[in-house]
Amino acid sequence: MAMRPTAEPAARTTLASPMNSAREGSLRPEIGFTPEPTLVHERVIEWFEGNARPLPWREPDCTPWGVMVSEIMLQQTPVVRVLPRWELWMQRWPKPADLAAAPTSEVLTAWDRLGYPRRALRLQAAAQAMVERHQGEVPRTAAELRALPGVGEYTAAAVACFAFLEPEVVVDTNIRRVHARAFTGHALPGKTYTSAQRRLAHELMPAAEPDDGATACAWNASAMELGALICTARAPQCQACPVADLCAWRAAGSPPATQEQQTRGQGWAGTDRQVRGAIMAVLRTGETVGRTELLDELPLPDASQEQRSRCLDSLLRDGLAADDAGQISLPGAQGSASQGPGGPVAGQTAGTGSAGLAAVEHQAQRLGE
Ligand code: SF4
Repeated sequence: MAMRPTAEPAARTTLASPMNSAREGSLRPEIGFTPEPTLVHERVIEWFEGNARPLPWREPDCTPWGVMVSEIMLQQTPVVRVLPRWELWMQRWPKPADLAAAPTSEVLTAWDRLGYPRRALRLQAAAQAMVERHQGEVPRTAAELRALPGVGEYTAAAVACFAFLEPEVVVDTNIRRVHARAFTGHALPGKTYTSAQRRLAHELMPAAEPDDGATACAWNASAMELGALICTARAPQCQACPVADLCAWRAAGSPPATQEQQTRGQGWAGTDRQVRGAIMAVLRTGETVGRTELLDELPLPDASQEQRSRCLDSLLRDGLAADDAGQISLPGAQGSASQGPGGPVAGQTAGTGSAGLAAVEHQAQRLGE
């Protein structure tokens, strides 16, 4: 199955290594072993072509809008949960203009249980900006994408690369892990994306010139997939890895993660995220509910009134809920005080420009899938 991004076979044989003698000192010298990037590129891209998951947003006929929707949905949500939502979303709103004109309450309802629903507001705000600034099309360059509301460095680079084959450096959690293991010999990359990691990611990018970025984008997609399927956080399947004999971590004896490199998984039970999710689940039914009734009847016996109230207030602040004299609903739902039933006014989507959008983009890294 043809999937993008991919490099033409001829291009793969002319991969240009970005590692020149002036740069070689930038990789960790104490490991004493660093693989030749060109060889890693070739092996991982070839592995990708035979093993990548046939995901619809990788199909050649997928629109840039479809790619962008997938990138937003995949931040914080695994592929298996995104797939059905993405299909429905693209049927319902196949172009940015369709989503831009949709009532926010419908957008949030369609987001369903993907989690972090501020992403839905962010996507709609970006769609409205595309209508206003780009004739309803997804812009091509990372700079233009980055200028859309709520679109950060990762999303801009990923959409430019995966939708338009722009040779941007794409770095998500999976790619950082592959870089850390294969090239620097670390078990895990740690929580923070450091300047050294950023430099390494740039150094590892195949040159764009020989094939207009096709190999560079193929490397991004391939390294991401390798991290998602083989070089996983908890149990890397090195026996199935195409670069097992080149891997710096294995060459170093597979040292365990240091405390600094370890990141704790996010808990769920008892968190504000759980309470916010329970409130959103009620509102997605389309009901307008009195504040007291809504909070009292949440099926979370361990959540205090203070926590319930705090979470509802945060949803109101984020533009994910509306309060009409104590009656709570989704924004734009019938009777909502914040927005009429005709849908959002372009550029005035609930939550647009809020601190919430920035916070979501700040977290924008794809999950280990
Ligand atoms: S050999 Fe193992 S640790 Fe190294 S890149 Fe492959 S899967 Fe990851």
